[in-house]
Amino acid sequence: MSETKIKKPRGRARYLEGKCVACGERCASACPVDCIAINDAGEPVINEDKCIGCDKCIKVCAVNALEMFYTSAQLEQLKLWEVQKSAVGEELEPEEKALRAKLAEYKGVWVFIEQYAGEVAKVSWELLGTGRELADTRGVELTAVIIGHDIDPLRTEAYGYGADVAIMMDDAVYANYRTEPFTDALCHLIDKYKPEIILMGATGQGRDLAGSVATVVETGLTADCTGLAIDAQGNLAQTRPAFGGNIMATIMCDKFRPQMATVRPHVMKASEYVAGCKGRVIREDFAPKEESVLVKVLEVIMDKDGKDQVDVAAAEIIVSGGRGMMGKENFSILQEFADELGAVVGSSRSAVDAGWMPQSRQVGQTGKTVRPKIYIACGISGAIQHLVGMQDSDVIIAINRDPEAPILEVATYGIIGDLFQIVPALTEKIRELKRDQAA
Ligand SMILES: Cc1cc2nc3c(=O)[nH]c(=O)nc-3n(C[C@H](O)[C@H](O)[C@H](O)COP(=O)(O)OP(=O)(O)OC[C@H]3O[C@@H](n4cnc5c(N)ncnc54)[C@H](O)[C@@H]3O)c2cc1C
Ligand code: SF4
Ligand code: SF4
Repeated sequence: MSETKIKKPRGRARYLEGKCVACGERCASACPVDCIAINDAGEPVINEDKCIGCDKCIKVCAVNALEMFYTSAQLEQLKLWEVQKSAVGEELEPEEKALRAKLAEYKGVWVFIEQYAGEVAKVSWELLGTGRELADTRGVELTAVIIGHDIDPLRTEAYGYGADVAIMMDDAVYANYRTEPFTDALCHLIDKYKPEIILMGATGQGRDLAGSVATVVETGLTADCTGLAIDAQGNLAQTRPAFGGNIMATIMCDKFRPQMATVRPHVMKASEYVAGCKGRVIREDFAPKEESVLVKVLEVIMDKDGKDQVDVAAAEIIVSGGRGMMGKENFSILQEFADELGAVVGSSRSAVDAGWMPQSRQVGQTGKTVRPKIYIACGISGAIQHLVGMQDSDVIIAINRDPEAPILEVATYGIIGDLFQIVPALTEKIRELKRDQAA
């Protein structure tokens, strides 16, 4: 006689106080019966009478802020169900089974190597560093995808920065970046090799390509990530600032593949380059015909003249000024200080908005992300949108007359006082030291 099949009891979802990170209502969007409201703090409020215990909100919450609550009778039934399940093996819903089978087809971490005339954008090497960690956690290969023309030397570099495999697509049609052929190329590779994760630099090219590819292959894309990790289910947890930088949201793409993310330059750290590393190469000859590409590159004009040439993001020492500088003319004291230190001058957004500095010097969420050896913040309060752009600097020195300024919480050294006295005094001290050394 066959044993009666015990049904898994359906409990009710319950919020675990204090655990929500206000990710942007993922739980509420997932609820099929609309029984989760989000309060002013961004936390879920569950209408338990309406809840049908479908589990969906619990599955989508990346920080496990929700749990299933059972009555004591349901708990008894749950125990019996678990005993029966372990005897017959796990039985998945057909929908879940199909999803798991689809996701299992995708394997490996890819980094798109962005290059201009054979020169690689540094962010690609930084992403190979992060990609290496993700690939090791997943126990899969790390692949560098290099699309261009006459690009063969780049694969040796890619191995040196941690790639196991290099996929090379070398053709004249890829000589200059254009959305259409690069999208076709990457979509072709995705279709053929099915990677689980693709990382790209949040540069002009990376943002353009990532958006285009994600649309074609119908997957999710998280832009400007500041943190990437693998969660307990093996999915990519993509962290980035949300709501104007006031919270950090962790975004998951757990039902689609590949999981795609862009990361700004200087956010991640490149691995140490190891010369002589060897790897596997895959040469792909897929290339759209030039006649079929609508956009033609007539001339490449390098951005040389007439523009601000200082690259704040690449500087090893940055002296930044904020609203505390009180006026455009006062930035000259920062420039003098920077000249003595061999530094470049950066700024907060307030200084840019006031017209004191060009936008290219802005550090922060809507400016550049920097990771210098020394970051000196002069008259900058330390708003979260500024901090996300510079908090990974090796040493942070804050000069501020307000001892409560938030910048002091991330500063290695804080100098409390009037910057108009402190900065010239420091400049003079450095000059003095240099004179002594020269004597
Ligand atoms: C969506 C969004 C994106 C943003 N993106 C960015 C971004 O990319 N980068 C960015 O910087 N901001 C950004 N902001 C703006 C940010 O919120 C802050 O408004 C800005 O960073 C404040 O700039 P500040 O620190 O120069 O000015 P304030 O906050 O006004 O701070 C001035 C500081 O100077 C100090 N001070 C004044 N006089 C002196 C003196 N004589 N000596 C010493 N200290 C003095 C004061 O104590 C104060 O701490 C963004 C905001 C939003 C909403
Ligand atoms: S963190 Fe979890 S509980 Fe909070 S809103 Fe997001 S999904 Fe809902
Ligand atoms: S368990 Fe299902 S029905 Fe209940 S709150 Fe969560 S998503 Fe809504």
